[in-house]
Amino acid sequence: MEKKDIDWSNLGFGYIKTDKRYVSNFKDGAWDEGVLTDDDKVVISECAGVLQYAQTVFEGLKAYTTEKGNIVVFRPDLNAERLEQSALRLEMPAFPRDRFVDAIVETVKANDGFVPPYGTGATLYIRPYMFGSNPVIGVKPADEYQFRVFCTPVGPYFKGGAKPITIRVSDFDRAAPHGTGNIKAGLNYAMSLHAIVTAHKEGFDENMYLDPQTRTKVEETGGANFIFVTKDGTLVTPKSDSILPSITRRSLVYVAKEYLGLKVEEREVFFDEMKDMAECGLCGTAAVISPVGKIVDHGKEICLPSGMADMGPVTRKLYDTLTGIQMGRIEAPEGWIKVIE
Ligand SMILES: *Cc1c(COP(=O)(O)O)cnc(C)c1O
Repeated sequence: MEKKDIDWSNLGFGYIKTDKRYVSNFKDGAWDEGVLTDDDKVVISECAGVLQYAQTVFEGLKAYTTEKGNIVVFRPDLNAERLEQSALRLEMPAFPRDRFVDAIVETVKANDGFVPPYGTGATLYIRPYMFGSNPVIGVKPADEYQFRVFCTPVGPYFKGGAKPITIRVSDFDRAAPHGTGNIKAGLNYAMSLHAIVTAHKEGFDENMYLDPQTRTKVEETGGANFIFVTKDGTLVTPKSDSILPSITRRSLVYVAKEYLGLKVEEREVFFDEMKDMAECGLCGTAAVISPVGKIVDHGKEICLPSGMADMGPVTRKLYDTLTGIQMGRIEAPEGWIKVIE
């Protein structure tokens, strides 16, 4: 398909309707064969499970054009696996993993005119999701579900360079021990909105959530995992049952060990350690890594030595290596890049 007439470099992170989306329905205990459709509207009962009791889970990944001109996606098998984990935790049926990857491929192919060209910094954001669609009024799981995949072109996350951000320690908690913090569900985002809106009002870019039980350990932000670099160059990342297993973070850990030869520690990370860190970053599909320059704990400022002007040197290497792998400039580990066309 010919490329759409879009000013790729000036796109923001918003929804733009593309030509096709994928839909499959689950009824009488089975998923139907699924179709691509032009219809961007979802019509469901006023009493649908998703509307009453928030029975919905989602994923997020990107397609982009590599240096050689291929359209690729990054590790979609891990999104398939994670959607399954999320669904099972909310008593929803699993969508078969191989069909998940096929649905991604079909949706991107059908919208290839919306995949931003190499070098623009823009990407095609892909949103697979699933929700309970039949009427549910007594509290129980729905019997019918819809799985959909749509995509939307998004602009470069960092316009004019990655400026470090300022985050605050949140007084609101994100996820209880043994709760749902480790799944990608709308419910975790609904409850984070008040915390992020108030953070923005007070001049902070993001919230740092601590573990609710002791408020001494670092968990994650509303939508990204943490990585830290110690003063002796070790990559440290929090390990907790209540953080979302970020695919970006898991990929960065591999890159740190196997490509950069760094020492990596995945362990409990105490807030008390923040003052001794050299670099801090937030990692997720949207930005890959956003550098953090300052952490504010109730008025007490912790300024990372990497400063407010640019990414720290180790963060920069991790960022350049992972984005190099994604864009086809650096050889990828086996199975990381799925070529679509
Ligand atoms: C999606 C998400 C992330 C990032 O995961 P990626 O797979 O790297 O995109 C981190 N934390 C939360 C809470 C998320 O929902």
